[in-house]
Amino acid sequence: MILQLQRRHVEVLKQETEMVYPVEACAMLFGELSKNEAAVEKVELTQNRLRSSTRFEVDPAKVAVAVTKAEKEGYVFIGLFHSHPAPATPSSVDLKYMRFWGDILWLILSSIDGKLAAYQLIDDKIKEATIRIE
Ligand SMILES: [Zn+2]
Repeated sequence: MILQLQRRHVEVLKQETEMVYPVEACAMLFGELSKNEAAVEKVELTQNRLRSSTRFEVDPAKVAVAVTKAEKEGYVFIGLFHSHPAPATPSSVDLKYMRFWGDILWLILSSIDGKLAAYQLIDDKIKEATIRIE
């Protein structure tokens, strides 16, 4: 899977990560989805209601509102973004939620080294996606 990101989106996500540090930042990614490629057209920042540096949780009501709004704009829900004050790899808690969310993309930014990585759960296995920034 290829995750196509726009440079301005990456900037927004980096800024949010720095602003809420050490709490994990989170956002929802919307755009266009085809079989092998997800193109992000819209980033919706969401609050981490746990205010935690190791876990994140978004308000399901806000998720529903954001999805409805994006669908009206012609976008589909592509995936979730969150930051880690640790390497950009899914934690065991992330894996649990990946199972809950299904095959959406998980974009993780490490606030330690600035590394951005994306993952998808396919057949219960974590697969790394290729990120393209334009
Ligand atoms: Zn995580």
